[in-house]
Amino acid sequence: MKRTPLIAGNWKMFKTCSEAVETAKRLAELAQKITHIDIMIAPPFTSIALVSESLRNINSRVDVGAQNLFYKKEGAYTGEISANMLKSAGVRYVIIGHSERRQYFGETDEDICRKVRASVESNIFPIMCIGETETEKKEEKTLYVLDKQIENGLKGFRSDELATLVIAYEPVWAIGTGNTATPEQAEEVHKYIRSKIGKMFDFSLAENMRILYGGSVKPDNISELMSHQNVDGALVGGASLDADNFIKIVNFNK
Ligand code: PEP
Repeated sequence: MKRTPLIAGNWKMFKTCSEAVETAKRLAELAQKITHIDIMIAPPFTSIALVSESLRNINSRVDVGAQNLFYKKEGAYTGEISANMLKSAGVRYVIIGHSERRQYFGETDEDICRKVRASVESNIFPIMCIGETETEKKEEKTLYVLDKQIENGLKGFRSDELATLVIAYEPVWAIGTGNTATPEQAEEVHKYIRSKIGKMFDFSLAENMRILYGGSVKPDNISELMSHQNVDGALVGGASLDADNFIKIVNFNK
């Protein structure tokens, strides 16, 4: 089974509404002829609906994502956003458990598991982020950390509920630092993740699941990363903020 690559941009806490719409439109224009790659951008909450609307008007194939959600359906949870609200704003993917959420906002694997469930129930494709810190890597705990994040993050799921799940392997030491994992390191870890999913659920789910690499992906390192069998795309932070730069990553095979 051939997996369609996904190149996803995480805009983090950057861009006002007008800047977000302008960048999204420019990307849509540049991506017009691309058919073999899925493309997603995740603007801040404030501009999601506007970006969705502007892309819908020009019939773009760039999908809109969110950077987070809260797992409750609705209620007195000041400042939070539900899966249903995201759906109504045109969201197709949601990034869950990004290391910045884990690090600065105390998200636990249990929160992440609830968020994955909420997104699946609202038909939003979850992109679950996992990855080890620099210290954990130095202590050779990478696989142990990934095991725990996967086991706890996907606890209680049946494999048919995870058909749209995307996993993003993002070593924390590589995010925003310019230190990318080597393509060989990424491939080895992705292969491990795929086999873990196969053992926990089933092999056809694992074979069809997209596993993205994230951490200082740039136009000049994407092709080599993507040349590896188990790297199905990228989650891109800094290099996704400028449409003309991001499209070079999307066009990795040109
Ligand atoms: C990210 O935010 O998920 C990320 C990988 O950031 P950067 O590409 O800037 O390292």
